Amino acid sequence: MNETNKKNCDLCGLTVEIDGFKLATKEAGEKHFCCEGCKGIYEMLHEDQLVTGADPLN
Ligand SMILES: [Zn+2]
Repeated sequence: MNETNKKNCDLCGLTVEIDGFKLATKEAGEKHFCCEGCKGIYEMLHEDQLVTGADPLN
């Protein structure tokens, strides 16, 4: 079915079952996470690289 769309969590490496926990980063593009916890930790560690606000590509 959607096997090719499976991603691995960018923090812990587990398969991402729910495609809802993601962040946009300036250098590395979109990051996907398996859970809110992993997303939160990545957010803390890479705060300065996250794309926030209205002009993500600047
Ligand atoms: Zn994870």
